[in-house]
Amino acid sequence: MTTKIKQIIVTGGFGFIGSHLIDRLLGQGHQVTVVDDLRSAAVAPSDYATYMATGQLVWLSMDVQYLRPIHVSCPCPDEIYHLASPVGPAGVLKHAGEIVRQIVDSTYAVIDMALRCDSRLVDVSTSEVYGGGQQGLCAEAMPRIIQADTTVRLEYAVAKLAMETALINATQVQPLQAVIVRPFNVAGPRQGAVGGFVLPRFIQQAMRGEALTVFGDGNQVRAFTHVADIVDGLLLAMEKGRSGQVYNLGNPANRTTILDLAKAVIEETGSIGGVQYVNGQSIYGSLYAEAHDKYPDAAKAMKHLGWQPVHDLHEIVADVHHAMQSTLQSEAV
Ligand code: UDP
Repeated sequence: MTTKIKQIIVTGGFGFIGSHLIDRLLGQGHQVTVVDDLRSAAVAPSDYATYMATGQLVWLSMDVQYLRPIHVSCPCPDEIYHLASPVGPAGVLKHAGEIVRQIVDSTYAVIDMALRCDSRLVDVSTSEVYGGGQQGLCAEAMPRIIQADTTVRLEYAVAKLAMETALINATQVQPLQAVIVRPFNVAGPRQGAVGGFVLPRFIQQAMRGEALTVFGDGNQVRAFTHVADIVDGLLLAMEKGRSGQVYNLGNPANRTTILDLAKAVIEETGSIGGVQYVNGQSIYGSLYAEAHDKYPDAAKAMKHLGWQPVHDLHEIVADVHHAMQSTLQSEAV
């Protein structure tokens, strides 16, 4: 069976999740346009020089809000994946007060393009919209909770939620085909420690023989999902997702406390540095806020999209460890 070659735009295509997505799309032979100004890139555009030389990959180095006909001429895509966003519990802090603008402007730019070009759109939102869920469990049918404290994390969550709401309502009254996904604690090769993500931080600390910085008492709950499973979910959401619907993408089987994650990292790396209990604010400053326990109910994506995450927590930890080891080795050469 031959696959139809599609024109696909991926905003944030050089980021952590985006780069894994474009690898898959390029491997399938599609024509990919990446819109990325490299502000939180996980790969170098030069890694894709061969694809760029053949024209299979086109890179638009710009802010997504300028993805409009007055600024850029670009072929109408069949599909748009919108991933570009401020990201990371520490990474978002420097954008405080500007996060809403960035998320709103960029998402409206892709909505307008999807409407003009009759493209299908997958919008990558966040599990942060749940606030704390119900004792940590987050399902699509549950209320989205706005906490009393105004934090930078809240600015990120409400901006994503605002655009989800606009998208869903737009699908009711305009010929817009849009599907929303909410990823939960994605991890895997190429994720940087810089955004504050816990797994690359722990692995980096373990590889340096330092104590792993467990925030609080380490009993906070998360469920980690391998980036390869998330890419499967994004492709399925594009292919089978119902317009105007929201799907959690997170692996409930990988539920863990952060202390147990630290133990898994120590076991994988053989680190003798142990753990130290610290307050996240002592590392990132007073704007840093902790999220509540959270883990997904993924039944909707499994049932309606046929999504089945397959990578367990130990594979995720091992994959991130091996990837960080090979980066270190290649930097040493
Ligand atoms: N965390 C930690 N030590 C670190 C970084 C993070 O204990 O050095 C914890 C953090 O408190 C949170 C969890 O790891 O409960 C997951 O953090 P991450 O920042 O990766 O994602 P979040 O789910 O908080 O957005």
